[in-house]
Amino acid sequence: MSAPAETVLSLRGIRRSFGEVEVLHGIDLDIAAHEVVALIGPSGSGKSTLLRAVNLTEPIDDGVVLLRGEDISDPRVNVDRVRARIGLVFQHYNLFPHLSVLDNVTLASRVVHGLRRAEAERRGLELLDSIGLADFATSFPDRLSGGQQQRVAIMRAIATNPELLLLDEVTSALDPELVGEVLALIRSLAEAGTTILMATHEMTFAREVADRVVLLDAGRVVESGPAAQFFANPREERTRAFLSRVA
Ligand code: ADP
Ligand code: MG
Repeated sequence: MSAPAETVLSLRGIRRSFGEVEVLHGIDLDIAAHEVVALIGPSGSGKSTLLRAVNLTEPIDDGVVLLRGEDISDPRVNVDRVRARIGLVFQHYNLFPHLSVLDNVTLASRVVHGLRRAEAERRGLELLDSIGLADFATSFPDRLSGGQQQRVAIMRAIATNPELLLLDEVTSALDPELVGEVLALIRSLAEAGTTILMATHEMTFAREVADRVVLLDAGRVVESGPAAQFFANPREERTRAFLSRVA
């Protein structure tokens, strides 16, 4: 079970059941360094379960998750250290409401990496400044719009310099006029070389920003291919059917 050094994530035969119902039927997926992969598929197809499995917030019943060749699905791994290497941002902004915006961004680097507060705050302010929100550093999250909160949540995930960033429909809960600012941030992270696996319903964005698109349906990978080819010339009938419904 080996993977080339430039492969950041390798999933091999990932299976997950809830009760009697298997929702992931043996997922294989590789993501190379600096690659941006869009995970698309109908609601209930298993996208969130798969992303949570990668970040070890969801147990798996079978299979292996390799992060730079290291088996992180081994029960002996230190889960907190793995999570610091894999950022995960959910659909609903999950900032800690009782912490300032800056403390939200710096918490993980202080706790997991043992960064001193001054150093963590310098970096945290830099990150907030890069998204135009340094003025909100001492505010609580509820002072921010949904789009601002979601951008802070993404920067919080970036603060530990993760090797992989997982985004689970991070714009789905936003008012339409706030979607653009969040997509612009993801686009700039992608252009800066961040390795990203993102579940998304934003097909135009996936086509423009993703290197590769993976269609999940009923817990199986139906098709995976370069974004341009995937949308222009899908191989599978199920892909064509899905795209015609969402386009
Ligand atoms: P998606 O993110 O693609 O919409 P999910 O991964 O959320 O899909 O869900 C995949 C399937 O697993 C769905 O049928 C869903 O109902 C089921 N499921 C997800 N989480 C749970 C859970 N905690 N308990 C039981 N069933 C679940
Ligand atoms: Mg989901």
